[in-house]
Amino acid sequence: MRTQILPPDASSLSLAAELIQQGGLVAFPTETVYGLGADALNPEAVRSIFAAKGRPADNPLIVHIFRREQLDSICDLPDAAVPLMDAFWPGPLTLLFPKKAAVPDVVTAGLPTVAVRMPSHPVAQAFLAACGLPVAAPSANRSGRPSPTTAAHVLEDLSGNVPLILDGGSCEVGLESTVLDLCHGEPCILRPGGVTKEMLEDVLKKPVSLAGSILRPLREDETALSPGMRYKHYAPKADVTLVDGPEENVLPLLRSLYTRDTDAGKKSCILCFSEHAEALSVCRVLSLGSKSEPSQIAHRLFDTLRQLDEEQMESVYSEVIPPEGIGLAVMNRLGRAAAFRMIHA
Ligand code: AMP
Ligand code: MG
Repeated sequence: MRTQILPPDASSLSLAAELIQQGGLVAFPTETVYGLGADALNPEAVRSIFAAKGRPADNPLIVHIFRREQLDSICDLPDAAVPLMDAFWPGPLTLLFPKKAAVPDVVTAGLPTVAVRMPSHPVAQAFLAACGLPVAAPSANRSGRPSPTTAAHVLEDLSGNVPLILDGGSCEVGLESTVLDLCHGEPCILRPGGVTKEMLEDVLKKPVSLAGSILRPLREDETALSPGMRYKHYAPKADVTLVDGPEENVLPLLRSLYTRDTDAGKKSCILCFSEHAEALSVCRVLSLGSKSEPSQIAHRLFDTLRQLDEEQMESVYSEVIPPEGIGLAVMNRLGRAAAFRMIHA
């Protein structure tokens, strides 16, 4: 199969809709990351998403809609969801709802809940409207690779496995959506993302809890509330280690860890804030972006992680940001890239 990348104009959108309606796959941009979409109500089509990505069958997908009426046929609607949809849809918030029978089990990996999101990206909206049906779409990467934030990333991972990639440029948020569970008692964030804990609490007027394994590895005896959290995601081939502590200790430690590894013949680099690039300039550094702009760090993170593999890095030492606001989502992804290895300086 040849993979075409097309700009999102009227003719490529109608080709995309035709492919989806015939049970095919299309990769499309959203404000979070690129998605790999198929007709959510066609089990064969959904199975081909898992095959194209090499995704384990027990990792459920998010269903994408462009207007709320589409919820009627796929799920029940808990009252608590309404103010959240009013505040954050369209946008990077995925909500879990009790699923209806029309949603095939392959979408939800057999779970009784279905994850639903209404993306705000204009190309995603135009694509979903042209399809006229709910579209199941995980991130458009090979399973285990960082999620794609450009059409070129999708091509790198899925060339020959998807007929069409709609090119909408680079994704604004750059990290996957926040996944919020309202179906099992108190609201709980299963995966942090663009809509922060603080933003959710402001609307719900009550505390929102965090799934245990957001900033640490899942324990052997623990079930993943969000099945995707069980998998080794976002992992570059290099050994990544996070270094935290006061700046005056962190910078010298980064330098000495880097020197130790390069002296031992390893290809190494440091992920640092742009403010520290100068002070670390004797080392090979990749900038995470400015320490004062965590949303910029989020926007570039997956591209930076892909660059580590491109440059065949073997060891990487990274600065950390406070796990607040969008910083929580950054530290979740960076933590998982590092298998949560952390040194305190
Ligand atoms: P992706 O779009 O590739 O980031 O994958 C979607 C993520 O949403 C998965 O990794 C799941 O962990 C999560 N998810 C989807 N459906 C459910 C569900 N019914 N319950 C809990 N988590 C879900
Ligand atoms: Mg994914």
